[in-house]
Amino acid sequence: MVAGELDDRGVVTVCAACGQKNRLAYGRLGDTSRCGQCKRELPPPAAPVEVARSADFDRLVASASVPVVVDYWAPWCGPCRMVAPELQKVAARQAGRLLIVKVNTDVLADLGERFQIRSIPTLAVFAGGREIARTAGARPADEIEAFIESAVSSAGTRERETHA
Ligand SMILES: [Zn+2]
Repeated sequence: MVAGELDDRGVVTVCAACGQKNRLAYGRLGDTSRCGQCKRELPPPAAPVEVARSADFDRLVASASVPVVVDYWAPWCGPCRMVAPELQKVAARQAGRLLIVKVNTDVLADLGERFQIRSIPTLAVFAGGREIARTAGARPADEIEAFIESAVSSAGTRERETHA
């Protein structure tokens, strides 16, 4: 299942009812939105989205209104192929609560270098414009969800302490 693609301002998805392309702005990824043409409700992205350009990635993590989970992968990596269907499950179960994107480190080598990705698959969680956690290696969907949950909740605790 294809959730859509990223551009410089949001996730572009195709309306299942009328075929119209709609952009879900990065800053409103957690909101319910409607198709610009037929006005039916647009579901939030329920599958991982492949990142095509580093600039889109930077815009996304800078302004996303939900946590962004990044899967650094490459086509030749066996464990990456094992984790892919697990990420599909997480994306479907957590649709609207987070966005999962895939970064092919062969294609976007500049991102792999900038974030110092030493092994793949590596999963990283971004929230509030910065990386809050990462983990290397394949794991099942339940463990991925637990990792994301603990990353987001501990980042939230730190944030509250900072503002207290
Ligand atoms: Zn429509």
